[in-house]
Amino acid sequence: MPVVSTSRGCPHACRYCAVIRIAGRTPRYRTLDACLRDVREATRYTRKDIAIADDNFVMNMRRAKEFLRGLIALKLPRDYTFMTQIKVGALADDELMELMKEANFELLHVAYESINQATLQEWGKSHSFEETEHSVRQARKHGLRINAMFVVGGDADNEQTIRDTTDFAIQSEVAAMQMWILTPLPGSDVYNQVLAEGRIFNTCWQHYDCQHSVFFPKRMSPSRLQIAVRNANRRFYTVKRMFGRSPGNRITYGANAWMMDRWMKRYAEKLRRVEQGFYDDNGHLISDRLPSRQATGASPRFGPSEQNPIAPPPF
Ligand code: SF4
Repeated sequence: MPVVSTSRGCPHACRYCAVIRIAGRTPRYRTLDACLRDVREATRYTRKDIAIADDNFVMNMRRAKEFLRGLIALKLPRDYTFMTQIKVGALADDELMELMKEANFELLHVAYESINQATLQEWGKSHSFEETEHSVRQARKHGLRINAMFVVGGDADNEQTIRDTTDFAIQSEVAAMQMWILTPLPGSDVYNQVLAEGRIFNTCWQHYDCQHSVFFPKRMSPSRLQIAVRNANRRFYTVKRMFGRSPGNRITYGANAWMMDRWMKRYAEKLRRVEQGFYDDNGHLISDRLPSRQATGASPRFGPSEQNPIAPPPF
C-alpha cells in the first residue's frame, strides 16, 4: 500500500528499538502542505488503504491533530482508509480518537509490547497494563480497530506470559494480533546486553525478522519460545475467528500467521539441538555454560549461517 511519512525520529529510548539508531531521537517534521500533497498523490495508487508510516505519529500531539484536520478537509471518498502505528497512551485522548475516526482511520497498530509489567520496565516502556485495558475500551468506544502488537522473550517472560498475552488479545476482541519474538537488533541496548552475555547463537541475518528465536532467553529455551509463539498464532487465528462474524483484519494477518506455521515448527526442531545443555529442569538458562565474549570474538559478523562465529552453524 502507499506510504506517507509526516515525520521521522522518536524521542523515546525503548531498549530493543532500532528505529532510534536509524532515524535518530530528534524528531523532524515535514510541513503540513507537503504531507497532504503526498496523501493526494497516494490516492492515485490505491483505492483503499494508505499507511501513515511515521516512527511515532503522536510524539507531537498538537501537530498530529493538525495533520488529521488537514486530512479531513481533503474530503476524500470514504473508500480511502488510513492506518498508523500509535502508542498506547495516545488512545486515551478522546479528541485524537474522534479526529482519527473522522479522517477514516480504520486500523491502529498499537505498540502494547507486553502485558508483563516487569518486561515493560525492563524495556523502558512507560505505559501500564491499566492503560492497555483502557486503550481497548477507547478504540471500541470510537469505532476504531486495533492490531495488538506484542514482543515476547524478554528476561522476565516465560511461556505463561505468552499464553496470558494471547488470552488478553482474544478476550479484548482486537482485530488482529502480531506477536514478535524479541530480536537483538544491532545498535539497540538489548543487543549490547545479550552480546556481552554471550547469548546470541544465530547471526544468520535472514533470521533477524522478529519471527525467529536467535538468542538464549533467560526463562525459557529458544525452541520453547518459538513453539509458544506458534501456538499463540494458532489460538488467536482460528478458522472461526478468521472467517466468522466481523473478522476485521484477521483474514490477512491470520493468513500470514498460518504461512509461518510450518517453518516455525521446523526451525524449533533445529533450536532443540542448539540449546542442549544450556537449560536446567525448570527451563531456566544456565548462564555459566554460555561462551564468553572473549572466546567468541569481539562482535559477530552478520551474514549467512556459515559465517556464524558463535556456535557451529546450526541453520
Ligand atoms: S519502540 Fe517506538 S516509542 Fe520506543 S523508541 Fe522505538 S519508535 Fe520510539
